[in-house]
Amino acid sequence: MDSNSISRHVLVCQLHEIAAERGAVLVVHAAFSKAGPVEGGPSGLIEALREVLGPDGTLVMPSMSSDDDNPFDPATTPCHDMGVVADTFWRYPGVLRSNNPHAFAAIGPQAERITAPHPLDMPHGLNSPIGRAYELDAQVLLLGAGHDANTTIHLAENLAGVRYRREKYVTIPEHGRPIRFDYREIDHCCENFALVDGWLDEQGLQKRGIVGHGEARLARSRDIAKVALEHLRAEETVFLHPLGVDEECDEARRSLPAEPDNHHGCSKDSP
Ligand SMILES: [Zn+2]
Repeated sequence: MDSNSISRHVLVCQLHEIAAERGAVLVVHAAFSKAGPVEGGPSGLIEALREVLGPDGTLVMPSMSSDDDNPFDPATTPCHDMGVVADTFWRYPGVLRSNNPHAFAAIGPQAERITAPHPLDMPHGLNSPIGRAYELDAQVLLLGAGHDANTTIHLAENLAGVRYRREKYVTIPEHGRPIRFDYREIDHCCENFALVDGWLDEQGLQKRGIVGHGEARLARSRDIAKVALEHLRAEETVFLHPLGVDEECDEARRSLPAEPDNHHGCSKDSP
C-alpha cells in the first residue's frame, strides 16, 4: 500500500464522521484525484461507502456517456468524464445502470426504482434518476468535487421552470440503425453552481469533512433544491455567466426570450 494511502478503517471512520446515514439513498459525486489515494483505489472507496450505508442503503453515482455519436450501451459504454470512481462503480457486480446516455448507476434496495427508464430529452427532471433520488430524500455527497458537479442543481433548474436551453443531441438505435436525436437541454458551463456552497452554509444545511485526502460536503437533496430554487425564483439567470465569458452560458442566455422593451414607457397602444 502507498504510504500516503488512507486505510479502509480510516476511510470508513471519515465517512461516519460526515454522517452518511445507514439505510440512506446516497448520491456520490467523486473526484478521485482529490480524494485518493485510498486503500484499494476507487474500488476501496466504493466498498467503504457500501459498508457505511449498510445493506439497506442505496449507493448512486452518475454514469453518463460523453459519446454523443454512438448509441449508449449500459453494459459497455464508459463514463470517463464522470471520473474513475463512477467509471469503476457501474462495472461492479450487482450495480444497475439506466439504459440512457444520461445514465445513473445504483446498488441497493432503491436501485431498480432509481435506474428505471427515463426520458432522453429531460435528463434531470423529476422523472430521472436524480429526481427519483430527490423524492426518496437522498443525501448528496461531494467527495473532492465541488457543487459544479452536483446534478441535483439541474433538477432545481427544472423545478424552477428556467427557460434557457442548449442544443444537444445523442445517438440512439432505431430498427437496429443509429440515428441522431436532437433535443434542447437545460445546460450551461455549471461553474456558478458553486454559489450553492455558500447558500447551504448560510442556512447550516451542509456538513463538511475530509474523506480520503479530499474535502467532502454532504447535504440533503431536498435542501440543495430548496436553496437553489429560492435563488432561481428571484433571478432566473443566477447560474449563468454574463455574456462573453464562455460559449455554454452565452448559448443558454441567447436562448431566452427577449425581454419586452419598456425602456421608454411606451405601450404599443400609444399614438
Ligand atoms: Zn458559464
